[in-house]
Amino acid sequence: MSSHAQKLTSSDAPIIPESNMAALPKIAGGNIGDSKISSIMSELIDEEEFNALKEIQADNTNRDVRFKTNEHYTAIAAGKEYKSPDGKVLVPKMPPSKAAGKIISPRLSSFTDMSGEADPSSQLSYSPEGDGLHGGVLHKYDETVLILAAPGCAGMCAHCYRNDFIDGASLTGKFVAKPEALKNYIIEQNKKVADNNSIDPETGEKILPIREALISGGDPLTLSNRRIFEYLDAIGSANVQIARIGTRELSFMPERIDDAFIETLSIVRKKYPDMRINFVIHYSHPDEFLFRDENGNYVENDSGTGFKWMNESTRALEALKSLSFVTIQNQTPIISGVNDDPKVLHILHQELNRCSVKPKYIFQNRTILGYKAFSIPLEEAWWIHKKAMEGLSDDGRSRIAMSTKRGKLEIISVTGLENKTTRPDSTSKSNGLVILKKHRAPNVEELGGVIILKSNPQALWLDDYTEEDVIHDQRIGEENCPDIAKLID
Ligand code: SF4
Repeated sequence: MSSHAQKLTSSDAPIIPESNMAALPKIAGGNIGDSKISSIMSELIDEEEFNALKEIQADNTNRDVRFKTNEHYTAIAAGKEYKSPDGKVLVPKMPPSKAAGKIISPRLSSFTDMSGEADPSSQLSYSPEGDGLHGGVLHKYDETVLILAAPGCAGMCAHCYRNDFIDGASLTGKFVAKPEALKNYIIEQNKKVADNNSIDPETGEKILPIREALISGGDPLTLSNRRIFEYLDAIGSANVQIARIGTRELSFMPERIDDAFIETLSIVRKKYPDMRINFVIHYSHPDEFLFRDENGNYVENDSGTGFKWMNESTRALEALKSLSFVTIQNQTPIISGVNDDPKVLHILHQELNRCSVKPKYIFQNRTILGYKAFSIPLEEAWWIHKKAMEGLSDDGRSRIAMSTKRGKLEIISVTGLENKTTRPDSTSKSNGLVILKKHRAPNVEELGGVIILKSNPQALWLDDYTEEDVIHDQRIGEENCPDIAKLID
């Protein structure tokens, strides 16, 4: 680390080192009508679908067919070598990764069937009122507050659940909130909890202090180090135990985790020695970090205990791990045609666990506009996840969950599928039960509650289950079922 960044000015404001932007992969984004974008996309999408997407864009009666990538991720997806400006190989030449290509490529069916919600899980209903807060700060779970800090990422996932915010066409009123707004909100909220003995004076419900603040977006690592510092400074000065950073940069652009960024985190640590920084990263598929041979196979490491990673991915991860106050977890949705395969998910979990990244959640795709193009049936997803967990010890496992309006529901089991050795057939109704547990809830008193539904193998989300499918819902009691289906999401 260079010493200049450790100096403090007379006003105690640290000098924050910035990354050398010229050394980072170049980002390309826009709609399919742009010739540069069109030429990258045409390498990743089959011709028929590509032409149909171009027609949709030209027709101009639908939303834009948008695409965003960068040189690092394009190299993985298109099977090209990518070198740094000084000639270092950052992505070796490998066969194209269909999975990476599918992650960033728009899908025709998400435009031909745009059912879904602009604001899935009604995030805005958990955004506090107040100047600079509503639409920029989300506070759904007592102990965790989230700030929308960055309006974009270094690429764009076609299945993005923040699409309404980051594609530039927000219809929902979300915006980038300022660090000061977050700090003041946390301080006021925690004072309210303390002054009222953990009982909300308006609702009479139990409330708990904010212990964790999540910097989100978009991807906060697309911001300058100075701006990231300002958000972390706001969190630290509000006396929060954990600052969480949600980022996909380890997949999209690991070059961003450079010395200047690591120094920035160290400066935060000096100022707030008791605050942990938790990175929740977003690898969806092992192709995003593993080296593949000329046949597309992963290559065993020298000890035979796992697979070889791309050097740049290892470097970035090791840089974060070198900081004792940093923890790293991974979460991803299960995406049709990308990672809806037990073998793929197993390798993802196994390799992340081996390299000290805790697999946290596998999410059922939220009901964004056009979500059906990316979703697989919920019960099938549970089976895939269950198969993927075979042979993994406890710390290598994730939870499969749904982030619903009323909280995070863990999919505990689907009876009848537990012993199935082949992928379930979503066309035939079984007699099984779907058992969901309230893993996180806006109302803490609902935690641990169970919802039991009759099987519907085609269901992509809770609203695909009918009132008659609801057998039990902890929140209102069995005696009131089945009239509660409308309450479960
Ligand atoms: S990384 Fe997250 S916020 Fe960014 S495009 Fe992908 S899903 Fe959306």
